[in-house]
Amino acid sequence: MALIKPLSENYDEYRRDESRAQGDAETISFPTSEDEVRALLRELHASHTPVTAQGARTGLAAGAVPTGGHVMNLSRMNAYLGLRRSSDGRFFLRAQPGVVLSELRKHLRARALPARDWDSESLAAAQELAQAPEQIFPTDPTETSACLGGMAACNASGARSYAYGPMRPHVSGLRVALANGDMVALRRGELGAHGRTLELATESGRLITLDLPTYVMPQTKNASGYFVEDNMDAIDLFIGSDGTLGVITELELELMPAPAVTWGVSCFFTTEAAAVAFTQAARPALGLATAFEYFDAAALNILRTQRENSTAFSALPAIDPKAACCIFVELAGASEAELLAELCRLGELLEQTGGSEKATWVARTDVDREAQRFFRHAVPESVNMLIDERRRTDPIITKLGSDMSVPDDRLADVMELYRSSLAEAGLESAAWGHIGNNHLHVNVLPRNAQDYARGKELFESWAARVTAMGGAVSAEHGVGKLKRSFLAVMYGEDHVREMARVKLALDPYGQLGRGNLFDPAYLEGGA
Ligand SMILES: Cc1cc2nc3c(=O)[nH]c(=O)nc-3n(C[C@H](O)[C@H](O)[C@H](O)COP(=O)(O)OP(=O)(O)OC[C@H]3O[C@@H](n4cnc5c(N)ncnc54)[C@H](O)[C@@H]3O)c2cc1C
Repeated sequence: MALIKPLSENYDEYRRDESRAQGDAETISFPTSEDEVRALLRELHASHTPVTAQGARTGLAAGAVPTGGHVMNLSRMNAYLGLRRSSDGRFFLRAQPGVVLSELRKHLRARALPARDWDSESLAAAQELAQAPEQIFPTDPTETSACLGGMAACNASGARSYAYGPMRPHVSGLRVALANGDMVALRRGELGAHGRTLELATESGRLITLDLPTYVMPQTKNASGYFVEDNMDAIDLFIGSDGTLGVITELELELMPAPAVTWGVSCFFTTEAAAVAFTQAARPALGLATAFEYFDAAALNILRTQRENSTAFSALPAIDPKAACCIFVELAGASEAELLAELCRLGELLEQTGGSEKATWVARTDVDREAQRFFRHAVPESVNMLIDERRRTDPIITKLGSDMSVPDDRLADVMELYRSSLAEAGLESAAWGHIGNNHLHVNVLPRNAQDYARGKELFESWAARVTAMGGAVSAEHGVGKLKRSFLAVMYGEDHVREMARVKLALDPYGQLGRGNLFDPAYLEGGA
């Protein structure tokens, strides 16, 4: 088939993602339509060839890194398909999976979506969108080059999930191609499980009965394994399934009105304990907060060094030498007066919990907010660059970042666990992330293979400790290939087997996303 090309050196970058893990595959395709995806899958199904779906490859769990077979890259399937407006005034956008988040945001800001070949209902809704208050898609996984299909496949979240939740509740429809090319069309609210049994009809009329896993998910931010609960909506099984159940060929997303005013407040602290106390006090007190993002001392030091040594980072603001950590709070509301009152409350909380109002940056304008965004993005970017540098001396080194969450009342415990065990292991690290959700990305910065092995052991031990606290081993990046051993720690092997049975009922030869979520042993005895 002409769509299938050998994965030659020209396509080298498609062997890896942002986790810096490196895989391999024999062939690659770049379909541009659902029909092409289906034709490819039908052909690959006949030979039981493994298929790894890819979006923009910004994932951090190696989910899009192939382990042989075929790479299906969806980034050229990037059309906007239509728009509808519900009777209560909400807008719903249909798009292909390769639409890039930054592009979507640009079009929404301009209140004009590329409406090529849209039907009359969509064109009418587009005209209403142009007149309506600005709409946003709230999911913000920091890296805006991510594609919508990839974001749904790993149930991405990011900073604003504190207020708006992860991707899941904003996805109202999906079209999914199964491993044999059969289609499943899912619309939120239309198909539910009976208890833990789900009957799924494909468009060709096949009925697939799924016995859903019996585990209970933690009450924290969670992207570990399949989403299941009693009487669940069928669409939620596919969101966050890490490319293992089907290829998403179309999404319908619910948009929401942009807040009238958004301010960013960077608060600096001299101790970690003060930052934790501030978070605990601010969560119930600040009703307009949409994000609480943390940066530890090492993360701030990385920014200080980048600012001094690299022209690419010279635009970073100078950080007070006394600052040991920072919490960025985003406030969003209906008016400046409302935000000013919230800002005063925030100032009082800072004084009460050991922070300082004086050492605070408030960004009210687009320019200042962009500087703060650059500051936040610069931390993971710089760590990725550091990892690339260290990989040159030892190629075994990849990014080693944790993605675990715990319930609100265990925040101080988990911070203490991270700090004390890193010190004991003598490892270099930097931590940042979504402290509002008790969800930090602790990144070990291995200097050599020994550090790398020690870091992996430490993460395994954290997986058990975080599970015991009632948390999740992956809160937003998905399990992919790098965290699959944690899944058994979190749910136990029997429940992972239950997940594997769901996969095999939909994908009997275990072709899709091979290596994601499951060790090969779990998928033996499929078809
Ligand atoms: C600097 C940086 C910061 C980040 N910060 C955050 C953050 O704060 N929060 C967060 O949630 N994420 C974060 N990420 C991770 C990343 O951006 C997300 O995981 C992203 O949502 C993945 O989208 P993608 O298109 O790149 O998917 P990919 O990486 O290409 O794929 C991700 C997974 O989805 C599957 N997949 C892709 N497309 C499809 C499809 N059409 N059908 C079925 N399966 C598919 C792949 O097989 C893979 O398992 C960050 C990444 C970087 C580099």
